[in-house]
Amino acid sequence: MGTRRRFTLARRPRGRPVAEDFALVEAPLPALGPGEFLIENRYASLDPAIRGWLDDAPSYMPPVALGDAVRATTVGVVADSRNPDFAPGQWVLGLNAIETHSLGTAGGFTGPIDISIVPSPTHFLSVLGAVGMTAWFGLTEVGQPKPGETLLVSGAAGAVGSLVGQIGRHLGTRSIGIAGGPEKCRRLVGRYGFDAAIDHRGKSVDDLAAEIRAAAPGGLDILFENVGGACLDAALMNLRHRARVVLCGLISEYNAPEAVGARNLWQLIVHSARIEGLLVRDWLPRFPEGAARMAELVASGKLVFDEHVDEGIDKAFSAFMRLFDGSNDGKMILKL
Ligand code: NDP
Repeated sequence: MGTRRRFTLARRPRGRPVAEDFALVEAPLPALGPGEFLIENRYASLDPAIRGWLDDAPSYMPPVALGDAVRATTVGVVADSRNPDFAPGQWVLGLNAIETHSLGTAGGFTGPIDISIVPSPTHFLSVLGAVGMTAWFGLTEVGQPKPGETLLVSGAAGAVGSLVGQIGRHLGTRSIGIAGGPEKCRRLVGRYGFDAAIDHRGKSVDDLAAEIRAAAPGGLDILFENVGGACLDAALMNLRHRARVVLCGLISEYNAPEAVGARNLWQLIVHSARIEGLLVRDWLPRFPEGAARMAELVASGKLVFDEHVDEGIDKAFSAFMRLFDGSNDGKMILKL
């Protein structure tokens, strides 16, 4: 019997995770029961959401159990099967874990994918996966952009943000992005076609608010929020009448030991604005439609995307932490 390597949760992080919160363990491969199949994971998607799943707090999913492998979406290949719908050799996408092999179950969150339609199977974790669907449905359905409107995206050089800005421009918005550091700001304009870029590093709420005002003198029609904290507070000071705030993520707050929160929510009242939380899994039934739209945009050269692939399960911790120090250049993926 073979073994598998698993990146497990050793203890719950307090604030910013440290290496000791996790353990790399070797365990026997699971025996297959009726309807089960063994997935040899090739790539794991490292998402900011994983940080939330490590806390024992109410959420849209149960927390990762102590000692269990850390939950993640993976793409892999069926290595062995007692399920007629999953033949060995079939590529699959599913909500599994950061581990070399996962156990698939009948009726679980794993489905077949056709990798012949993409240059790399990793694209099912980026532009054609949850990240792409977050950008597409978040902007088009929650943000509801109209040509000529002004869109501000925080976390704009990241996986979701870079797509949102481009989709916005494709639909006729003026897209402004906030990112960390001059290099990422150059990339926003030069590669992703944003109209303007703002560097958030080391800036106060007042500084950021002034820079947003300079870039969008008429105010913001749509704010696509990925970051929270100072970025959100500064953006709220620049809303336009009936603005829409798409609350997608609050990454600057995920490692905060104490609860934080926006201080300028009163601006929603001032501008009769709307704020709406976005949870991409609500859009699961429409993923095929969203993926088709993203594929079209990529094929027509209207959308570019980047993936940052680190290799080896022993790099799981350092690769995951890139999301919080900003050293990922595109969708963060771990090659297993
Ligand atoms: P990214 O590829 O954008 O990587 C994370 C980026 O966040 C970093 O590169 C860094 O960019 C920025 N960041 C991290 N910490 C801070 C901080 N303290 N202050 C400011 N910026 C920070 O990740 P994703 O695109 O995968 O995710 C982006 C957001 O979207 C997250 O908040 C995530 O939770 C959310 N999300 C929500 C979903 C939903 O269904 N609601 C689904 C998918 C993602 P920089 O160097 O520019 O600062």
